[in-house]
Amino acid sequence: MKTICLRSRLHTANLFAILIAFMSLGTSADTCWAQNAEQAAQTRMVLVRAGHLVDAATGTATPNQDILIERNDRTGRGVIQAIGRNLDVPPGTEVIDLSDHYVTGGLVDAHDHLAITYKEEPESNQYYFTTLMDSTPIRAIQAFSTGFQKLASGFTIVRDLGNNGLYADTALRHAIEQGWVPGPTIINAGIIIGAFGGQFFEIPEREDTVYPEYLNADTDDEIVKAIRRNIHYGAKVVKVCVDCQAYPYTTEQLELFVSEAANAGRKVSGHVQTREGARRAIEAGLWSLDHDNALDEELHAMMAEKGIWRVGTETPKTEWARTSDARWERRLAMLRDAYDQGVKLAFSTDADYFIRGLDRGELTLEFIETWKAAGIPDADILKVMTTNGYEISELENERGPVREGFMADLIAMRGNPLEDIDALYDVDFVMKDGLVFKHDGVVAPMDFFHNGPAYGWRVR
Ligand SMILES: [Zn+2]
Repeated sequence: MKTICLRSRLHTANLFAILIAFMSLGTSADTCWAQNAEQAAQTRMVLVRAGHLVDAATGTATPNQDILIERNDRTGRGVIQAIGRNLDVPPGTEVIDLSDHYVTGGLVDAHDHLAITYKEEPESNQYYFTTLMDSTPIRAIQAFSTGFQKLASGFTIVRDLGNNGLYADTALRHAIEQGWVPGPTIINAGIIIGAFGGQFFEIPEREDTVYPEYLNADTDDEIVKAIRRNIHYGAKVVKVCVDCQAYPYTTEQLELFVSEAANAGRKVSGHVQTREGARRAIEAGLWSLDHDNALDEELHAMMAEKGIWRVGTETPKTEWARTSDARWERRLAMLRDAYDQGVKLAFSTDADYFIRGLDRGELTLEFIETWKAAGIPDADILKVMTTNGYEISELENERGPVREGFMADLIAMRGNPLEDIDALYDVDFVMKDGLVFKHDGVVAPMDFFHNGPAYGWRVR
C-alpha cells in the first residue's frame, strides 16, 4: 500500500508536485500505513441472548431466542446472521445476556425536526425567531444532541422533516452514516418547499427571511428545481407545505411534486393544515399527510382507500402541552376513527421544542399517552411505533424487523410491551448497527465515535 500511495503522487506530471511529494514522503508513508491497517477486514461476532424476542408485526413474543450478529467495523454494518434457540456460537463471540429482557426492533418517530428546538427563552416559543437567532452550525450540533437523546430512548429511525437551517439534517445524516457520531438512521427532507413565504408571515422589508427554512416554489419550473436542489443536497424524502398560505398548491402541482420526486426514487410528505389542502394531497397521491388537525372521517376513508400514511401530531395532554379540552377530544376521536377505518398510521411527534426536565427522547415517548387515551391496544401501539415506522421510512427490507440479513438495531426492556406499552419508558438496552449504545440503562457510546469517516467519506 505504501508503494501505491507513493506512485499515485509520482504520476503527477508537474515537477514541483513531485518535489513536494518527496519532501512529504515521511508523512504520506505514515498516512498510507494507517489506511492499509484500516482497510483490513474488521469483523467480530456478537450474540444477544433474548429472554423473549418480540415480533411487533405479529404481536408475538418467543422465549429464549439467540440473535447472532456479525459486526464489521470497516463498513459500520452489523448484520443479523442467525436467530434461534441455543445457537452454536463461534469462538471469540461476545455474549450479551438479556435473558431477563424483552428484545425487539428499534422505535421510529416519523416526524421530528432534529436541528431546531424552540423555547420560551429567548423567542417566546416562536420558531420564526429561532431561525433568526440560531445559526446552522449551532443547529447542526443541536441536531446531533437531539438525535443522540432520541436514540437513548430507543428511537433508531427518525424522519427529519425540514426546518433544519441550511441542510443541518444532511450534515447529521452524513456524520452518522460515515461513523463520526452515533445517532438514529435519518430520513431527511432538506429544506421544506412551499408557496411564497413558506410557513412564515414576512414583511416586505425582510422577505428573504424565508430562506433557508423554506424554498419558495410557485411555478412548475420552480417546483422541479426546488426538488432537484434538495435531492442534490442530500434529501431522502421531499417535504412540501401544501396549504400554508392563502394560495395552496393545486392538485396538478402536487402531482408534479409526486412525479418529480419519484423520478429520483423519493416520496413526498405533505404538511397539511386545511381540509381542502388535505383533499388535494390525497387526490395527488402523496406518500404521507403530516399533521391531523384538518383530517376527518371522510378524508380518512379516502386515505385508507389510497393507502396514504397518516402522520398525525399526537401531542399528549400534559402539564407541558397547552391543549384545549375540545382539541384533545377531537384529536382522540379522530385518531380512533383513523385506526378503526384502517388508515396507515405512524407514530409522529413534531416534538421540536424545549421542555425543561425532559430530554428529547423522553419527550418523544410521552406521545404514547395520546395513543393509550384513544383506546388503541398496546400491541397495536407497538406495531405503529416499529413495523409501521419501518414501512413509512421505506427501510422495512433493510432494518427494523429482527430478522436474518437485517441490520441489528435492537432495544430491550424488562416488561412486555405487547401487554403493557409503558414498558417502553424503561428501554435500558439499545443496539444500533450491531454496536451497543446503551446497556443496563447506561449510555456508553464511545465505540460509535471516530476521528474520521471510519465507514467511508463516500457514504452519503
Ligand atoms: Zn413538523
